[in-house]
Amino acid sequence: MKKDILIGSHLSIAGGFWQALVRAHSIGATCVQIFTKSNRQWAAKKITDDDIKKFLSIKRELNIKTIIAHASYLINLASSKKDVQEKSIKALVDEIDRCEKLEIPYLVLHPGSNSLEATSDACTLIADNLNKVISLSNPKRTMILLETMAGQGSTIGKKFEDLAKIIGLIKNKKHIGICVDTCHIFAAGYKFDTEISYQALWKNFDEIIGIKRIKVIHMNDSKKELGCHIDRHEHIAKGKILPLAFKLIMNDKKFAKIAKILETPNSSQNPKQDQKNLDTLKSYIKK
Ligand SMILES: [Zn+2]
Ligand SMILES: [Zn+2]
Repeated sequence: MKKDILIGSHLSIAGGFWQALVRAHSIGATCVQIFTKSNRQWAAKKITDDDIKKFLSIKRELNIKTIIAHASYLINLASSKKDVQEKSIKALVDEIDRCEKLEIPYLVLHPGSNSLEATSDACTLIADNLNKVISLSNPKRTMILLETMAGQGSTIGKKFEDLAKIIGLIKNKKHIGICVDTCHIFAAGYKFDTEISYQALWKNFDEIIGIKRIKVIHMNDSKKELGCHIDRHEHIAKGKILPLAFKLIMNDKKFAKIAKILETPNSSQNPKQDQKNLDTLKSYIKK
């Protein structure tokens, strides 16, 4: 049913957390992704009881079904600098706390980047630090989602095997899931825009990580070619990924209850461009 689909975009919280919900509703989104704090600063403003009350009541009123938070870009659990690791752990614990307060079930995290260690060692480092974060925050409702990455620079997470290695080392796996980003996996070299490559991709993903771990899909087209390792998002059907890929995802039963979030170029306080992309995705759904 079209009205039950979980689809939305990343939107600004300027003017208050609840404003993101109003923006989402205005473009026909049923879910939304936000930063719960400035994504380029370590410091964060406290969340007040009023913020929480207003956010939750407007969420109910507008019938926004799922909310996703994206963690700050500064967090790097794989940093070769010990002080950055420590700052990152603290910041991530704080972000989980903010999500718990706002009743946000998913917090998307870039696994990390490290140019010094071998990838496998960086994965171990990430898992060790995630175990620390989980035991420090002991989340009740918020799950951390490791995002699949394009592999730009020294970022970890361009291969499903790397993410599987990290998850394998997590002590309490119920706190960890995956956010698949279509632009990133394409840029990382995974093809999925033909019938055959689409089926093969998810079979491969299921064998290495497990389809059940996917909790969110970032629906982004890619400005750059397959396997380029460059992370540049493009509007749906305007980039290098054939629209068939998005059509298949929109009609895939296994993703029916998975939130699909656009992170396509927008001015996030004026989400009209997102509405176009949402309408395109909705038009792909077979009745
Ligand atoms: Zn993403
Ligand atoms: Zn990206």
